[in-house]
Amino acid sequence: MLAKPNSALILVADDDAFVRHMLTRYLRKEGYTVVEAANGDEAVSLYFRHAPDLILLDVLMPVMDGFQVCQRLHTLTAGHLPPILMVTGLEDEKSVDEAFEIGVVDYVTKPIHWAVLRQRVQRLIAQHRLELELREANHQLRQLTLMDGLTQIANRRYFDECLRQEWGRSLREQTPLSLIICDIDYFKLYNDHYGHPAGDRCLQQVAQALTQSIHRPSDFVSRYGGEEFAVILPNTPLPGAIEVGNRLVRQTQTLAIPHVHSPIADVVTLSCGGASLTPLASYLPSDLVSTADQALYQAKNDGRNQFHAFAAMPSIPCV
Ligand code: GH3
Ligand code: MG
Ligand code: MG
Repeated sequence: MLAKPNSALILVADDDAFVRHMLTRYLRKEGYTVVEAANGDEAVSLYFRHAPDLILLDVLMPVMDGFQVCQRLHTLTAGHLPPILMVTGLEDEKSVDEAFEIGVVDYVTKPIHWAVLRQRVQRLIAQHRLELELREANHQLRQLTLMDGLTQIANRRYFDECLRQEWGRSLREQTPLSLIICDIDYFKLYNDHYGHPAGDRCLQQVAQALTQSIHRPSDFVSRYGGEEFAVILPNTPLPGAIEVGNRLVRQTQTLAIPHVHSPIADVVTLSCGGASLTPLASYLPSDLVSTADQALYQAKNDGRNQFHAFAAMPSIPCV
């Protein structure tokens, strides 16, 4: 037998006051918290006020019947509903089929067989809670596969996914998309002198500085490789990318992490390459990446600790 889920809240919707009170009294005796709705409209608004763990829904109600309530809730919640248990006097095949088709997970018939109701309520609530736990576990698992363990920012896999998505959106909406690839300068020398653990801490600090340097919720910072980071700036034309890129360079230097062997500064510095374009069907996301890569190469060649950018065509330098 299933353990009774504690503190579950049940929404009972039935226009028949006698049935509703009977149901409520029984369920309260069983230890549940119950809210009552006398019609379909009330059921929908009480659902949003109380977020119940289970809905007991009468089929025949005035104004909005049980089927309509079910459909309305499905539309409004995009299907993220707790289980709905239909309480129905209708036993004809058509209503039962219809009920299951619109997302009702089970039903009990009137007159109510109380032991059957008790068992179904317990099972559905327990099942729903397991589903929520599973969904949460899946969400956490996905987070783990998408985050970089050392720096706690998005990893390369997440970057690839995000770039693909943003590319698709920019192509559809014909909005500009910018990408900045960043690389810590002379990081091998840093590791050689300060040791690998210090190198790891440096990567964490830089990752944090980059995260703090972007301001829009849609901007995306990731660890692209060893000491490389990539920043996706959706809906951002070149001037915006130039502003962000220069900020990333400045912020890294402002961290003031000592680097006594750097040939260009006494602190850790960053070089960044940016690229901006409004995607066309004939371009690929990899075109944006390779253009940003070429700009990074240019920034390194021009002396490091700086940002360099190209527009869509790598042959047209912009800064
Ligand atoms: P440049 O200015 O041309 O970028 O020179 P660089 O020394 O930074 O570049 P290079 O590619 O020669 O060296 C990158 C270094 O980054 C070498 C590698 O040991 C270090 N590195 C990569 N990933 C990690 C990491 O996870 N932790 C630490 N501590 N170091 C890393
Ligand atoms: Mg590198
Ligand atoms: Mg480097």
